Amino acid sequence: TLIPVALADRSYDILVEEGALDRAGQHLARFARTGRLVVVTDQNVAVAHLPRLESSLASAGVRVEAIVLPAGESTKSWEHLAALTDRLLALEVERADHIIALGGGVIGDLVGFAASILKRGCSFVQVPTTLLAQVDSSVGGKTAINTPAGKNLVGAFYQPAFVLIDPTSLDTLPPRDVRAGYAEVVKYGLIDDFAFFEYCEAHGAELLAGDSAARAHAIVTSVRAKAAIVGDDERETSGRRALLNLGHTFGHALEAEMGFSDRLLHGEGVAAGMALAFRYSTRIGLCSAQDSERVAAHLRDAGLPHGLASAGIDASGAALVTHMLHDKKMAAGKLPFLLARGIGQTFLAKDVDLGDVAAFLDEERTAG
Ligand code: NAD
Ligand code: ZN
Repeated sequence: TLIPVALADRSYDILVEEGALDRAGQHLARFARTGRLVVVTDQNVAVAHLPRLESSLASAGVRVEAIVLPAGESTKSWEHLAALTDRLLALEVERADHIIALGGGVIGDLVGFAASILKRGCSFVQVPTTLLAQVDSSVGGKTAINTPAGKNLVGAFYQPAFVLIDPTSLDTLPPRDVRAGYAEVVKYGLIDDFAFFEYCEAHGAELLAGDSAARAHAIVTSVRAKAAIVGDDERETSGRRALLNLGHTFGHALEAEMGFSDRLLHGEGVAAGMALAFRYSTRIGLCSAQDSERVAAHLRDAGLPHGLASAGIDASGAALVTHMLHDKKMAAGKLPFLLARGIGQTFLAKDVDLGDVAAFLDEERTAG
């Protein structure tokens, strides 16, 4: 399936194809300007998938220059960015070359940002290998590194030239990472696609077990949804792209409380955050209790956190709201709260009372 992202002169395609990594030669040879491709990846993906890419490219007459970085969030740093750009310069990468980012969101965000500044911008291709990267971070052009002041605070909007998604790469992904990525899949149903949420309820378990039809359908539906939103609002100015932050304001507070560590993965924080956003919407009379219970039940069935206790959080409402106030999405003292009138009916609420949110979180804490 080929999904276009319409962004005038920055338009590109996303290919979702079972086994595409084994046909990388066919799909990526056109980007090898001088018969060579520089592929940046991490240690885990280098073991699991780089050989497939290399041998297919070799059969197509393309030589691979691999740069293998340590796995993990700490690779999204100034130090690794500097080292990476130095290596790319040493390899004489030119603006017309295409750097290949093979890996999860960490590699995609770092390589995309490196591409945006190397020689004032050279091309790059995303080959995402985690579910989170396939359905979210590889599409849309947000790139960034982390600094001591926080996550993703330094970066650029910089679109890839092509995105190649091979769902079979998920066969080697740890189940916990698959579940975390699945939270972002469910998000698209909750935002504005009730029928897709029902699909998730019916087929989520198969997807998590690695069923290829369910996996492909979920990836294609999610990528189409993200591509449409990004095509409408590339730089998050009209408010439409902000819908993608459903569950992220609550989730960010939970991730911050856990020190952005492995104790709570991003997708796990988002899952709990979405359940909280629905319950808060119910509390202020926007959404039926039935709908918010249905959301929480599906997340629980998928093995994801669906509230403070299941996310392992025992903090006061005030402490969590303080974390929210440090969220970079805060503008002029207002936080973007995505609230819901029902499943598939979310909207950006601009005047949420943070004192009330803190009281709600205290109730959630005592409810357990
Ligand atoms: P990740 O890149 O750290 O990957 C998770 C783990 O899985 C790593 O250990 C990695 O080595 C391993 N891995 C990757 N693919 C594998 C495979 N196929 N088989 C086995 N192991 C594999 O994490 P992630 O969850 O993909 O991405 C998280 C990052 O994405 C965060 O830094 C977040 O800020 C960023 N993000 C960016 C956007 C965006 O729009 N740019 C959106 C959401 C998240
Ligand atoms: Zn997210």
